[in-house]
Amino acid sequence: MSGYEPPVFAGPIDLDLSRNEGRAVLEASDLDIELGGDPIRRYPDTSPLARLLAARHGVDEDRILVTAGGDDAIFRFLLANRGTEVVATVPTFEMIARYADQVGAHLSEVAWWDDRVPIGEMVATGAEVVVVVSPNNPTGSTIEETDLVELAARFGLVLLDAAYAEFADADLTPLALELGNVVMVRTLSKAFGLAGLRVGYLVAAQDVVAEIAGFGSPYAVSGLSVVLASRALETGLGRAESYARTVVEERERLIELLTELGAGPLPSQANFVLVTDVDPADLVERAATAGVGLRRFPGRSGLESSVRISLPGNGDDFDRLVRVLTDVLAGARNMEVADVS
Ligand code: PMP
Repeated sequence: MSGYEPPVFAGPIDLDLSRNEGRAVLEASDLDIELGGDPIRRYPDTSPLARLLAARHGVDEDRILVTAGGDDAIFRFLLANRGTEVVATVPTFEMIARYADQVGAHLSEVAWWDDRVPIGEMVATGAEVVVVVSPNNPTGSTIEETDLVELAARFGLVLLDAAYAEFADADLTPLALELGNVVMVRTLSKAFGLAGLRVGYLVAAQDVVAEIAGFGSPYAVSGLSVVLASRALETGLGRAESYARTVVEERERLIELLTELGAGPLPSQANFVLVTDVDPADLVERAATAGVGLRRFPGRSGLESSVRISLPGNGDDFDRLVRVLTDVLAGARNMEVADVS
């Protein structure tokens, strides 16, 4: 398996909507911080951040493991479960299959698009561990509460990757925290716009957290990231929520436009929309010519006609996105389209 390759574009991109990065909740003034406790010289202590995250979710601190992004949380979870049979849905976040491969876990994949998650098929694989991403990347589909309960009843352990939870109408968090065998992965890369800090975390039962904490690096998250992420949680929750609300409004408008343009958008609960009925090379290349980066999925089965479009969460950028998509898609289909921007 070759390494993970971030998207590359032929020309300069000044509106990159290919990588699901959110709008940063930290402002320049927040960066003028007191570096108490010497986070540069000393090995990092994640406990102040874990306390803030525990307070955010109303759980004890020992139910939180701070990780180097959601990526590290998934990797360590799979490492801790390396001898077991794992089932995940497909298409989904590609690092799940990559990490499963790296740790030598046996992964079965069951197709899931925009309907109910296929629990029967997942159970039929005989796996002990299930990984489900909700809202899913790249489809934007979510699982229902009753399905999460059912998964928890049918499998030994459930990894619920909720990286995009802040953008969904229904919040599975309270239920996930109640179910003793659900491990929930979260990140500050999306709704908080802090992808460069590499901060994520998992929340699970205390003994499960202790087990997973035994895998991976002891100091995966840098001291500066702990300080900045803590500041973001202390000061940026309101900004993250308002950004998520803007994204949700844009998402509904974009889905309407893309439907009108015949691009086959899937209903989404994330900060992106997947279109399933386009010529990906043409759309991505022509958007890139206008400086807008979109995501295609070369070599990913089932995604041959798909492009993922992230919402900018900003009025001017959204209007620009609408103009570019309208030009490219209506042009390709010789259509006249009403102005929705
Ligand atoms: N889970 C999902 C579903 C994702 O899409 C991503 C980011 N692409 C991650 C986890 C990991 O994000 P990060 O490591 O930046 O927290």
